[in-house]
Amino acid sequence: MISICEVGPRDGLQNERDVLPAETRAELVNRLAATGLPRIEAVSFVRDDAVPQMAGAEEVVAAIERRDGVEYAGLVLNEKGLERLNATSLDRMNVTLGATDSFNQRNANASLDEAKERASAIVGARPAKTTVTISVAFGCPFEGPVDPGVVSGLVDHFREVGAEEIVLADTIGVATPGQVKSLISDTSAQGFHGHNTRNTGYANAYTALEAGATILDASIGGLGGCPFAPKATGNIATEDLVYMLEGDGGETGVDLDALVAISEWLETVLGRPLEGQLYRAGLFPSA
Ligand code: ZN
Repeated sequence: MISICEVGPRDGLQNERDVLPAETRAELVNRLAATGLPRIEAVSFVRDDAVPQMAGAEEVVAAIERRDGVEYAGLVLNEKGLERLNATSLDRMNVTLGATDSFNQRNANASLDEAKERASAIVGARPAKTTVTISVAFGCPFEGPVDPGVVSGLVDHFREVGAEEIVLADTIGVATPGQVKSLISDTSAQGFHGHNTRNTGYANAYTALEAGATILDASIGGLGGCPFAPKATGNIATEDLVYMLEGDGGETGVDLDALVAISEWLETVLGRPLEGQLYRAGLFPSA
């Protein structure tokens, strides 16, 4: 069984120009949960003024109609975020940091060492049901290619402080399958988060599974880019990923028709075509 973690309501919408009200974001989470997705990253606990797209995380969580078998996650970047997450009914915490000094500096006003320390304190305070996502694990918009040794060191460190799960993220969509294969096998990271910026996202996700990963992040319709890489397109699209995996006999437990219907709905909500291709091309064979 392949576990898909849907990141559209968080990583996707956070990087959209339009700011959707908490009510619509909760509706998106509820629609996604109804498709059989096992995990949804629903919110981010950041300052409302810093990231208006993610404002009102508590309101979103309160409007979630919880479904059995679905794990609801929230992103946390600091102690304040941890407090806020702990006050909600969310099941899982995702803590993220970048693999380079410059990325952490821009993203969190911290050096790599400071970001590592900050993330370790949060993980240490709540080790169960915690994922650590290492951003720009393959390439950084400011520093270029990232030394795999640095990423391996970070993975080892976060395992030592108790993180149950590690996800390696190709945040700006520069990785190629061979790189994904070696870094996933060398680190035994459980998950991969891919962007399709240079059309390698799906091949990378497929390769991550072959290299031993069991969790793949994806975003409905391919929502979301990267604020520091303005030309970067979004995450791999959940429905396109499910089409590929199920076509190859993989089991995701997700209702593909239902996913496609959500992208069609989102297109009207956002008033523009999404990056995903399956919802425009249609299923094959058609339903
Ligand atoms: Zn992403």
